[in-house]
Amino acid sequence: MIIVLKPDCSDEQIAHIEKQIESLGLKPELSRGVQRTLIGVIGEEDVLSNAPLGAFPGVEKVMPILKPYKLASRDFQIEDTVIDLGRGVSVGGGSLGMVAGPCAIESREVLLEIGQAVRDAGANILRGGAFKPRTSPYSFQGLGEEGLKILRDVGDELGMPVVTEVMDPRQVELVDRYTDVFQIGARNMQNFNLLSEVGQMSRPVMLKRGMSATVGDLLMSAEYILAQGNRQVILCERGIRSFEDSTRNVLDLAMVPNVKQTCHLPIIVDPSHATGRPELIPAMARASVAAGADGVHIEVHTCPEQSLSDGPQALLPEQYAEVMASLKQLAELCEKVIPVPGEGGDAV
Ligand code: PEP
Ligand code: MN
Repeated sequence: MIIVLKPDCSDEQIAHIEKQIESLGLKPELSRGVQRTLIGVIGEEDVLSNAPLGAFPGVEKVMPILKPYKLASRDFQIEDTVIDLGRGVSVGGGSLGMVAGPCAIESREVLLEIGQAVRDAGANILRGGAFKPRTSPYSFQGLGEEGLKILRDVGDELGMPVVTEVMDPRQVELVDRYTDVFQIGARNMQNFNLLSEVGQMSRPVMLKRGMSATVGDLLMSAEYILAQGNRQVILCERGIRSFEDSTRNVLDLAMVPNVKQTCHLPIIVDPSHATGRPELIPAMARASVAAGADGVHIEVHTCPEQSLSDGPQALLPEQYAEVMASLKQLAELCEKVIPVPGEGGDAV
């Protein structure tokens, strides 16, 4: 249920309503918007339908949330969620998060070289995997904590927020010590224990769409994180499986405007994993921004042939710089900004 508060509802009245909701065994979720302040009420359906929510002072009206996802819905929050990643970088509400870096962290030297190049090109979030979800158990699995240390160190040296994948609830505390943003990979989108665990942390989460997940499944997974109290979820479209096999996955670009109609969370598009083909990435990156995405996620490597993971889909730094030059123009056209890390979010 959504409680729409009267414009003059006082803080005391809000506190009273929240207390009463809790005493009914329900959970109040306050959303202070520019236009209206709402309280989402989450709980068991039969308790909810009998709760006298309209009777509290300060309440204008009570409406059911018809969608299965509640906190992720625009019924609960009309305005776009804007997520502050630190270092002057935010994602959503007109700010684009440009995530770039190698698939896996391989060494400090390589990550620093790639990080420097992508930052110079305009990237504002550095990526790199320390725990890699590989199809084969015989493939490189990542450097683990050593990799996390390298990522933190390089991120600090370059003044960029960093994102890295966490694969297991038991790794959450460890990854939390080093990263700015948790990445939940496609293969773990429905690892509900992991989602609940990162939902209890205070860092933003980039949630990648599962390769066989519908848009509805993705939003329900986001809801798991939000329901634990972590409101900082960035969705990431990375392509889905279909009968088409000329690209690694099929990029569902329509999901961007589709999800934006009903959900307030920012969405980043990953054309690297979606296509698996470097020559297709620039066009799909531009299409993503044109479709209204809040950022683009691209894998970059200085020597793709020596890369220990996803080398064939990596862009060279100079190719990335070329894509970014066109994305900057496009961002301007779409009245979006690409925050520069360390410069308080200035536009480029
Ligand atoms: C990755 O980002 O390197 C990755 C493994 O992505 P996905 O989970 O989308 O396959
Ligand atoms: Mn990868």
